[in-house]
Amino acid sequence: IFDVLVVGGGPAGASAAIYAARKGLNTGVVAERFGGQVADTLAIENFISVKATEGPKLVAQLEEHVKEYGVDVMQNQRASALTKPDNFQVTLENGAVLKAKSLVLATGARWRSMNVPGEQQYRGHGVAYCPHCDGPLFKGKPVAVIGGGNSGIEAAIDLANIVEHVTVLEFADTLRADEVLIRKANSLNNITIVKNAQTTEVLGDGSRVTGLTYTDRVSGESKQLTVAGIFVQIGLVPNTEWLKDSDVALTRFGEIDIDNKGATSLAGVYAAGDATTTPFKQIIIAMGGGATASLGAFDYLIRHSEQ
Ligand code: FAD
Repeated sequence: IFDVLVVGGGPAGASAAIYAARKGLNTGVVAERFGGQVADTLAIENFISVKATEGPKLVAQLEEHVKEYGVDVMQNQRASALTKPDNFQVTLENGAVLKAKSLVLATGARWRSMNVPGEQQYRGHGVAYCPHCDGPLFKGKPVAVIGGGNSGIEAAIDLANIVEHVTVLEFADTLRADEVLIRKANSLNNITIVKNAQTTEVLGDGSRVTGLTYTDRVSGESKQLTVAGIFVQIGLVPNTEWLKDSDVALTRFGEIDIDNKGATSLAGVYAAGDATTTPFKQIIIAMGGGATASLGAFDYLIRHSEQ
């Protein structure tokens, strides 16, 4: 039985594991894929104190740091349920059950993709999902933002400061963003908003994005846009489907509700990173969240453990 079992091996989970192990707690990490979204990231330039790195390199360093503390890392394992008969039990898809006195849930999130030709091919080569991360790569160039919800319009306003021009493509005939954001976007002269636009293909020259095509859903006409970058902002989905039948409260967006100690609604269960209600989703924030969650779990254990 683990003192702390961390579910998820991204930056939040890795940080939680190190913090728990450094308290002398018997710590395990179970993860479908160690590294999480970082493993899919090319350039990282906002991991403070490291001027520039690459996802796979940071993942290798995370793994090395976690293993330094003798943490039991169980990879290629997917959690499918969380129950609490006496101790906490995490059931894996292969049927195995892991037991723990406390848990840190850090299963992250995934960006919803457009599922159009070219998107996968140019992911990381012009197709981007995070304006905070990749905005500066498109300095002085034209870009498109797909999605006119809050995240799309926020991204457009953010990018307008850096890039040459932003075209927002919204599928519906209205924007779903807050009025104040729409007003701000409309006041900037390098943002164009196109409604009723269904993106149909990402175009590229074999190595980088050069543009996209979309269908005007009113006229049925196919149009082409020349851009260097495409920011897909059609939703970040938390990986929390496996918690639906548990006693851990999720928001209507599926995010794990946490307080400022990382505690969930179920005593002894803590959570961190992109799977939670933390407002900004970044590596450094996920790591901070993981540390908070483990310190929260430690606090719980010293009050609730018999030994
Ligand atoms: P994740 O990184 O999503 O990790 C989740 C972990 O949980 C993984 O190990 C996964 O396999 C595991 N998991 C999921 N479900 C289960 C399950 N049921 N059972 C077991 N394990 C499970 N942020 C920056 O700060 N700078 C950047 O430059 C940057 N660039 C990015 C580029 C891209 C392409 C993407 C997609 C994201 C980028 N981000 C960047 C965001 C950053 O990667 C995330 O905020 C961060 O990884 C979140 O960490 P996390 O540990 O909460 O979740």
